Amino acid sequence: MKEQLSIFNFSLKKVLDLEPDSFKKARYQIVFTILTFSLLKAFIVLPYVIKYEQHLQLARLIFIIVSLLVLTKIILYKPASLLAISHIMLVMSLATIWSNLFAYVQAINIFTIQLIFLTTLVSYYLIGGVQAACYSAMAILPAVYYLIARHAGFVHINMPSEEVDSEVSDAVVILNFASFLLIHYLYYRAFRKNLMEKEALNLQLQNNVVELNALAESRSLFLSTMSHELRTPLNGVIGMAYLLKDSALEEQKDKLNILEFSANNLLSVINDVLDYNKSELGKIELEAVPVSLPELLKKIHSGLELKASEKHLDLVLETDESLENIWVITDPTRLTQIIYNLAGNAIKFTDEGMVKIKVTLRELLGDRATFHFCISDTGIGIAEERQQAIFDPFTQASSDTTRKYGGTGLGLAIVKRLLSLFDSAIELESHSGKGSVFKFHLTLPLCQTQMKAVAEQKADTTYLKGLKLLIVEDNRINVLLLQKLLSKWEVETVIAWNGQEAIDQLQLQYFDCILMDIHMPVMDGYTATSSIRNLADQMKANVPIIAITASVSDQLYAKIKMVGMQDYVHKPFQPKQLFDKLKLIHEVM
Ligand code: ADP
Repeated sequence: MKEQLSIFNFSLKKVLDLEPDSFKKARYQIVFTILTFSLLKAFIVLPYVIKYEQHLQLARLIFIIVSLLVLTKIILYKPASLLAISHIMLVMSLATIWSNLFAYVQAINIFTIQLIFLTTLVSYYLIGGVQAACYSAMAILPAVYYLIARHAGFVHINMPSEEVDSEVSDAVVILNFASFLLIHYLYYRAFRKNLMEKEALNLQLQNNVVELNALAESRSLFLSTMSHELRTPLNGVIGMAYLLKDSALEEQKDKLNILEFSANNLLSVINDVLDYNKSELGKIELEAVPVSLPELLKKIHSGLELKASEKHLDLVLETDESLENIWVITDPTRLTQIIYNLAGNAIKFTDEGMVKIKVTLRELLGDRATFHFCISDTGIGIAEERQQAIFDPFTQASSDTTRKYGGTGLGLAIVKRLLSLFDSAIELESHSGKGSVFKFHLTLPLCQTQMKAVAEQKADTTYLKGLKLLIVEDNRINVLLLQKLLSKWEVETVIAWNGQEAIDQLQLQYFDCILMDIHMPVMDGYTATSSIRNLADQMKANVPIIAITASVSDQLYAKIKMVGMQDYVHKPFQPKQLFDKLKLIHEVM
């Protein structure tokens, strides 16, 4: 608020115009009301006091009138002095109560009671809190004391009491009641206005939330559509690079490696953005399947070994003996993602030395166990003041990280969110230039079922030899890629360009498995699968169907299961992923 107005300002409106807050506006009006009514009362009493030569009253009255005029001028000139003036007025009011009781009137008359009420009321309206309680107590206590003391006969005041005559005092009492009404009304009006403003604000907030939700929805839709569009061509790039490497000349191999590396990089960026988007919308749900923890760790280790060896780093996997043969119920994809992100970072930000993934069994409690995961490196480390920030999305430890090491700054934000889904949190210990240690605990249910047999099957590329597969896909590049890939694994393939053609083909012959695209002209993958599941020939009706889709919608998995598909592979897929899924189906056949 503006500190001061013109010294010649006599308008309360100008003061109120400066104040946007309805409660503060009401406070100015209350102060002004009290000042005006008090002056009015003083001028009513003045002639009487002069007439009857009540010198003490006269002196007090003149002092009060002068003070009230000065206070009125101050509030109109310096509105910021509201609080100070409120205090002065309350002190004056207390002084009047005390002097009435013990000097001028020497009795508790209606005027004194009104003044006590007014002081209590106004102290809460103008100041509030402990200070208001003190003013109220100081207004009430002397009256209580006076009553007790008078009954006990302690009060011996020798001054003559100077009561005003009843007509004048009646006028004062009426004016006091009027000021009560006005002060209450002013405060109530401010209260109601404030309430209405809050309601309007709430309504606006609710509208904003609806708008924001709609915006988030459309952003999520945009991202999943975009990723779909990006994933389909990327599928062709990654797959073709994989196939080309077999027949490439020596000088082409390096270029193909770069091509494959860049495509995989692009894919991981797309996946990161999607994952972060999903986790932000709370759309990630953890799977709960039996997982061999040592096997999972070995897979992660071997998946990262190439990366580490390219930088001549030792990548060490250290596990407890007690971890052997331990199966847990968890989400292997998300757990892998967490360790992969942390260990991948460790390799990325380490130039020499080693990266260690250490997992130990901390506690066995009934059918649950707590594991401690620790990913450490001897790399560049993270300065202490950046250790909080790097877990924020799109944030890196320093401004030149992207230039030197690449990356989007999303990995750790995803790790943090995924760990919170596991009811865990990440801890970091690091010093600039001295490496970093990322740690977390996971408490997971143990799985009693021995599933070793499945885990021990070998990855032999001739494993699928002799299978007969129906590829249902409308995209020519994807068909070409799948044909080449499957022929490499010695799998026989037949093509159908849409769902209807797939049903026609199935009428003619038996297949061991169908790879089914979802979005196709003529008949989509869902409809085709439903029709297949209703075929009279049970062998054909029960043929395993794997969806191949670039869609990342949340309902995808539920819908795939609903129409009766066994599994799905995301485009772009790594050839090994498809191989593993086909292998699993082959095994249960
Ligand atoms: P990105 O690696 O894509 O930049 P992250 O979210 O995974 O994004 O990491 C954020 C930042 O944290 C990195 O850019 C890097 O500055 C820092 N950081 C993460 N892990 C390590 C590590 N092991 N050593 C040093 N710095 C790290």
